[in-house]
Amino acid sequence: MEGECTYCGSDVAAHDPLVVGDADGTVGQFCNYACLSAHIESEELVVGDACEWSPDADCR
Ligand SMILES: [Zn+2]
Repeated sequence: MEGECTYCGSDVAAHDPLVVGDADGTVGQFCNYACLSAHIESEELVVGDACEWSPDADCR
């Protein structure tokens, strides 16, 4: 698993990897923002604690 995109499984080292996490630790690592946003949508991670990890969170 290490080095693989959480969403698509590609080698993140071949790209400009994004690693995101919350208070409990790492949520995932992604090739790029496209994979990150796709993963968010598929997992509905935007609900609740988005401001904990999102690179462009709009904390309210
Ligand atoms: Zn990916």
